[in-house]
Amino acid sequence: MRKVGLVGWRGMVGSVLFQRMLEENDFHAILPHFYTTSEVGSPGPRIHGIPYFLKDANDIQALAEMDIIITCQGSDYSRVFYPLLRDFGWKGYWIDAASVFRMKKDSCIILDPVNREQIDKALDDGIQLFVGGNCSVTLSLLGLSGLFKAGLIEWMSLMTYQSASGAGARHVRELIAQSSYMSQDSEVSNLLYRGSLISLLKRVNELMNHTEMPKKAFSVPLIGNVIPWIDNDLGDGNSREEWKGEVEAHKILGLRSGSFFLNGLCVRVGVIRCHSAAITMKLKYDMSEREFLDLIESANPWVRYVSNNKEESIRELTPARISNSLKIAVGRYKKMFSNSESIYSVFTVGDQLLWGAAEPLRRMLNILLGRL
Ligand code: NAP
Repeated sequence: MRKVGLVGWRGMVGSVLFQRMLEENDFHAILPHFYTTSEVGSPGPRIHGIPYFLKDANDIQALAEMDIIITCQGSDYSRVFYPLLRDFGWKGYWIDAASVFRMKKDSCIILDPVNREQIDKALDDGIQLFVGGNCSVTLSLLGLSGLFKAGLIEWMSLMTYQSASGAGARHVRELIAQSSYMSQDSEVSNLLYRGSLISLLKRVNELMNHTEMPKKAFSVPLIGNVIPWIDNDLGDGNSREEWKGEVEAHKILGLRSGSFFLNGLCVRVGVIRCHSAAITMKLKYDMSEREFLDLIESANPWVRYVSNNKEESIRELTPARISNSLKIAVGRYKKMFSNSESIYSVFTVGDQLLWGAAEPLRRMLNILLGRL
């Protein structure tokens, strides 16, 4: 059996990956080793009654014993340790959740329901670096892969509503701590069901801007707020998250740059888990709801079309409904303007910790195990 090192397994993505691997019995097919940057030697997880102890993720020798390394530790870690391992002579496979190597020439972005041929070709070509795509890109591509595969999209505006857990474990804890900070305030409690509404709103606003509001991770409150910038500022008006959308989508689909246009605004919202996106897209021709539904649902088993009406949209097309499931919900399909241009709106919701992060990694592991 192959030795598989898991780095970053207690983080947001890593813990979801671990859970999925348990559910799918992936640990039966490998010899797992768990690594940490902070708690070397501590007890790690127990799998089928066997206790594992944590190895040092900064120890090149210990890492180099692995046939495959899956890391959910983040770009800062990968940027340092991947080249160090290669310099050390390591010949294994590296599967990464972080963005740092996605656009590298000798890497393959993994989303096998969409680009299995590319993954197989990369393996045939001797590629050993496999990277999960950006979460919003991945979810949109999976949801609309029927349209992408048929080459029916001319351009797309992707306005994302990204959850706190998309930023990592510290951030999601902070959002919950912000909620708790608000609800534990005695003035808020007193005013919640009686008394002046104006006083309640004033007190809530004071608390949101209070120095004691927990905001170390996000630097601003996320509760009752939206943050219209994710990742670094590229200096050209785009955030790095927005740039990733266009370049990664082209790479995943194996298209040359500029084959279609994709841009938008990436916004952090006070949702715990699941990213949503409001998409405006120009199709090559006018498409009935029936044709759209058939195209997207036949592309992969995870897409669920939600009819464009109020009752189903508010019930089925939300993070609350989709959280912790592999479904990608696609709805609000409508022609935007009455003129002849084929411009449509659509709304997608998917769990960014599953299809947007952990699931492509564990599926890549299994593809690899089938080939080695
Ligand atoms: P994360 O939750 O911050 O975890 C990364 C590491 O931080 C952990 O493995 C852990 O390492 C350490 N850590 C520090 N404080 C922690 C705490 N309180 N709880 C748990 N772990 C803590 O990051 P992540 O969201 O999983 O993201 C990992 C990588 O995946 C990033 O490159 C990210 O860009 C990418 N990604 C994330 C998502 C997403 O939705 N979150 C989606 C796609 C891709 P030690 O055990 O070594 O201390």
